[in-house]
Amino acid sequence: MTFNEAVKKVFFIEILKGLALTLKHFVSPAVTRQYPTEKREPFPGSRGLHALVRAPETGKERCVGCGLCAAMCPSQCIHIYTSEGDDHKKVVDRYEVDVLRCVFCALCVEACPYGALVLTPHYEYSGYTRREFYYTKDRLLQNWDTFMGGAKGTEYLERFWRPKAVDFGNGTPAKIEVSEGKTP
Ligand code: SF4
Ligand code: SF4
Repeated sequence: MTFNEAVKKVFFIEILKGLALTLKHFVSPAVTRQYPTEKREPFPGSRGLHALVRAPETGKERCVGCGLCAAMCPSQCIHIYTSEGDDHKKVVDRYEVDVLRCVFCALCVEACPYGALVLTPHYEYSGYTRREFYYTKDRLLQNWDTFMGGAKGTEYLERFWRPKAVDFGNGTPAKIEVSEGKTP
């Protein structure tokens, strides 16, 4: 053992250093926020609760039921049920997301070729049963109206819906029109 090591052991230098660090934190200002009284605005593009985009022309979901989002979902928490309509087009009978299984990776959003699905910045939701976290098509459309309606939804799709044609250098992105809705 060297002289320095011996001195450290005899005078408990490391313990004193630790105590000094603890005391320093007693007097420095707290960095924690007192949630929920103090809240931070979610960053644009934050991955919160899902929503289905409501098309302004029809007032219905923009989703065509192609199933790409469900195929890409690593958690397999998207369930889509379709049928054939009068004009032989696919009709989305049910579109459901089991949010408790979701890992909020946004692969479903990226996979959608129609910009029909988004993750809203809304993250404050809770419930007492699993059913409350099982989002049906109507509830997902309601999420769009509540959290992403109007300019907010347009901005989201312009900034975060990727890839667009322009990303491949062969076109300009189409202007995306969305329906008006309530903002939180
Ligand atoms: S965010 Fe990821 S885990 Fe959640 S539904 Fe989309 S693809 Fe699935
Ligand atoms: S949300 Fe998009 S990817 Fe998923 S089924 Fe609808 S259109 Fe297809």
